[in-house]
This record gives sequence, structure tokens and C-alpha cells, in this order.
Amino acid sequence: MKNLAVDTVQECLAEAERRCLRRGARLTDLRRSIFEILLTARKPVKAYDIIEYMRDRGQRLTPASIYRTLEFLLEHGLAHRVNALNAYVPCTGPHEEQALLLFVCSECRETTEIDDSVLYDAVRSRLDGLGISLRDGCIEIQGTCRNCM
Ligand SMILES: [Zn+2]
Ligand SMILES: [Zn+2]
Repeated sequence: MKNLAVDTVQECLAEAERRCLRRGARLTDLRRSIFEILLTARKPVKAYDIIEYMRDRGQRLTPASIYRTLEFLLEHGLAHRVNALNAYVPCTGPHEEQALLLFVCSECRETTEIDDSVLYDAVRSRLDGLGISLRDGCIEIQGTCRNCM
């Protein structure tokens, strides 16, 4: 994840607020804080990193409440789980909710959404033919990014 500029983070938070409203959900303070952590982190974030980060800010949270909050962010398309890293990233792109192509660099862990529905559909339909269904509709590709080559 790129480190987003402050105004971009504010814009993403405002957009998340609107998105939740449209869906009849509420971006509570906790949900907002955790989403903000994902937005400002340089790398995919693990649940335990969030617990530590919040503890440093004087808020003690249980793993259960962190996971519940992350579930909320996933459910409303604000974040994605990176299965290869057991970590979370904010959603950065427009894509169908259940059609996600993620590239994960095995060296630096930078995780990027690949905006290519043709590639996604091709892989998915070939997998369908083989009787393989995708977890959360997500295809994760691991490799080495340009910076780590
Ligand atoms: Zn996304
Ligand atoms: Zn890399």
C-alpha cells in the first residue's frame, strides 16, 4: 500500500462514511479508527498490529472486537483480507465486490489491486470449469514487485 497523503485519507474516510450511510450501516468511531489505520499503513496490517497500535493510544481492545470490526470493513467493501499474509488492506479500487485480483509482493509485502476484469473473469471461469471455487471471490497472485526485482 502506498502511504496516502493526509487529504486522500480524509477523502477515503468521507467516502466510507457515505458508503456506510447508503448501506444503512454506521461507521462508528472504532470502525473509523481501524479503517484509518489500514489507510495510513504502508503495508498490509495484521489484527495484532492493530491491537498494539490502539494500545499505544490508550485504547485496550480484545482480539474479538478487532476481528468483528475488520469483518464489518470486509462486509461493506472497505477492506480486503490478504490471505497469503493473514493481514488486511483498505480497498483502493472500483471493482465488483466479489471480484478481486490482488498482487502480493513476497519480498516487501506491498499489496496492490490489479484492475483487470478480463484477466479476472478468464481465471475464474477456467477455475469454475475445474470445479474450483474462490475463497471470498478473491484471486491472490504472489510474486516480486518492480521495486524488489
Ligand atoms: Zn478493493
Ligand atoms: Zn516488493
